[in-house]
Amino acid sequence: MSVRAGIVVTGTEVLTGRVLDRNGPWLSEQLLALGADPIATAVVGDRPDDILRALRFLAAEGCELICTSGGLGPTADDLTAAVVGEFQGRAPVLDEALEGRIAEILRPLMSRWPDLDPAAVLASNRKQAVVPEGAEILEPVGTAPGLVVTPAAPGASTPTVVVLPGPPRELQPMWAAAIMNSPALQAVLRDAREYRRDMLRLYGIPESEIAATLRAAEAEGIALGGLEITTCLRRGEVEVVTRYEPGEATAYEQFAAFVRARHPTTLFSDDGSTVDEQVFALLRGDASGPTETIAVAESCTGGLLGARLTERPGSSQFVRGGLVVYSDEAKAALAGVDRQLIERVGAVSEEVAAALADGARAALGADVGVGVTGIAGPGGATQGKPVGLVWLSVSHRDGRRLTRSVTLPGTRADIRDRATTVALHLVRRLLSSSDPG
Ligand code: ATP
Ligand code: MG
Repeated sequence: MSVRAGIVVTGTEVLTGRVLDRNGPWLSEQLLALGADPIATAVVGDRPDDILRALRFLAAEGCELICTSGGLGPTADDLTAAVVGEFQGRAPVLDEALEGRIAEILRPLMSRWPDLDPAAVLASNRKQAVVPEGAEILEPVGTAPGLVVTPAAPGASTPTVVVLPGPPRELQPMWAAAIMNSPALQAVLRDAREYRRDMLRLYGIPESEIAATLRAAEAEGIALGGLEITTCLRRGEVEVVTRYEPGEATAYEQFAAFVRARHPTTLFSDDGSTVDEQVFALLRGDASGPTETIAVAESCTGGLLGARLTERPGSSQFVRGGLVVYSDEAKAALAGVDRQLIERVGAVSEEVAAALADGARAALGADVGVGVTGIAGPGGATQGKPVGLVWLSVSHRDGRRLTRSVTLPGTRADIRDRATTVALHLVRRLLSSSDPG
């Protein structure tokens, strides 16, 4: 078994959801990458008792390493260092050299805020320099130093606790510095295993199908015992993530080949690439072929597809832009959709989706056009056209075209987001097939 690790995220603002936790997931990912085995993240408020209990819980669960985030600042509710000292049986001591280094950091800040009470600044400076006796100091990234604290009790070597500040822009570089410089942290991580992680992505398949595939693979005699396989449905795609030790590489290859053979059309990625990346790779073409451009005309997604396409650096090479055509007037005026067509078949229809794709292509001079029109929210539903119905069309200058409808579940935000994923998969399918649709 590898090094079990736990995370304690502190902060009443995180516990209540006012601030979204960015440290727990980030640390968990870092620990995984280092070959440790993160078992749980406890989120607690700024209460010393609860922080202490969380540390005890994770220690009782066999964690050899615990990382904490937050509560290192100068205010009275910043208590993590003191609590971790108590947990490890180390008395608080003033580190005068550290106090001096923090004072140096504060000096320019103080000159920027001339009205600050110097006595108050000195007191908070001193508070931040009080650390558990014998702890390793991680130099401040902001003003708060971090710590690596091992148990004081003779014979007890675990858990080692890494105490990190709350702001992610401070926590992340401090963690990197701790990995590089802390002998105590390096000592616990020495027992970490080497793991590989690989991902298969499928589209257009329910999660239950994957469960059946896993059973079938075992029945075929593929040894899944050494593979930690997790499946997760995300943005309408099924992600199968497998973590395994290098010795299990053959078993993983057999498993991946089995999935490939069983789901030849729905498995679209076996190298971790996303549909967004694949669409860009297809637009870029191979070295010999020309780059192709894309334009979109969106009704119900209101520009989200355009935003998603323009998210990554370098997208300006491929993405011409998009039309947001919410009203029938906009569909006619900007995307050139025939008004009589809209009246005859309705704005949410196969014909209008196709006309939007062609209109986007024509208006923006692109090789590929995408049209999206659907009913994302209550109020839009009519007889035979429920909320969640979305028509999508992709057309190519050379005459290829794919058009389909989906009925997406969830809230307005879910439907809009999922529709962008469906659109990208349609683009991927069109660009990876050479025959006209
Ligand atoms: P400071 O010296 O800034 O007070 P600190 O170590 O005491 O640092 P906290 O007081 O716990 O950290 O948090 C400071 C701010 O950092 C929070 O208000 C929040 O904006 C951000 N923050 C803290 N924890 C998290 C977290 N888990 N995820 C995202 N942001 C966080
Ligand atoms: Mg604070």
